[in-house]
Amino acid sequence: MAGSIPQPFIDDLLERVDIVDVIDSRVKLKKTGKNYSACCPFHDEKTPSFSVSPDKQFFYCFGCGASGNSIGFIMDYERLSFPEAIDSLAKVAGVEVPREQTNDPQKRAQNEAQEKARKLLFSLMEQANDYYQLQLREHPQKNTPVNYLKNRGLSGQIAKDFGVGYAPPGWDNLIKTLATSNEKQDLLLEGGMLINNEDKGRLYDRFRERIMFPIRDSRGRVIGFGGRVLNDEKPKYLNSPETPIFFKGKELYGLYEARQAYRQLPRVLVVEGYMDVVALAQYGIRYGVATLGTACSEEHLRIAFKYTNEV
Ligand code: ZN
Repeated sequence: MAGSIPQPFIDDLLERVDIVDVIDSRVKLKKTGKNYSACCPFHDEKTPSFSVSPDKQFFYCFGCGASGNSIGFIMDYERLSFPEAIDSLAKVAGVEVPREQTNDPQKRAQNEAQEKARKLLFSLMEQANDYYQLQLREHPQKNTPVNYLKNRGLSGQIAKDFGVGYAPPGWDNLIKTLATSNEKQDLLLEGGMLINNEDKGRLYDRFRERIMFPIRDSRGRVIGFGGRVLNDEKPKYLNSPETPIFFKGKELYGLYEARQAYRQLPRVLVVEGYMDVVALAQYGIRYGVATLGTACSEEHLRIAFKYTNEV
């Protein structure tokens, strides 16, 4: 038990567990629109004023003001210390808790640097998404992707809803735009946006001349991309590789967007690829989701059933 727990581990743990599961296994929750509710476990009441937001991974009680994330809930509900609550969550997530000595200032500085880098990586992914969307509107060769999308029957509004963008031709567009420091360059590489050609000792953009689909996590943060070619190049579809923030086996493309489209998700329809998800949305069927180049797994279904009763 001795030693402090590195912040990046805690962040990762909070991403692996879902506060809805954490609370629901202790206090039965009812789905109410986008959120879940129950009678508050922290004060006496007859009508539910305790609310859990899956988007924010946060709970709040309008009656007594109790609030917090999964860790805070376990601490309050089970009267555990912070490290004990982490241990309890880690057990559910099936991961080992690393310990570090707090009195080592070097280690502490290292942890803080890791946490900062992770935040910067999320920010860079968002900036890449902004960049691709801007190219779809303003690049001199934008007609090729725009015509492709139009031919597939997509409106500008749907493209916007899904954040569809365009990675223009060229080997270093993203590098020039976003890799403005060594740290950013390293993070873009780690985040799968760049490829390192070790023979030539040269970095280049992973996504070139493709229609870009941002992949979002349950909180709406961009964690990866799917790109579709506009010519005969192979592969037709290219996904981000697995990265410290992108785990293919547990992400469903379009699930975040589907949850945004309905107060209560009526069902989830698993289709083959991003274009299918977006094309269905164009025809008013906003509950399509796609796995990302992997078979639909038990974990995918578990995630889908978290938000709806019909898959
Ligand atoms: Zn309360």
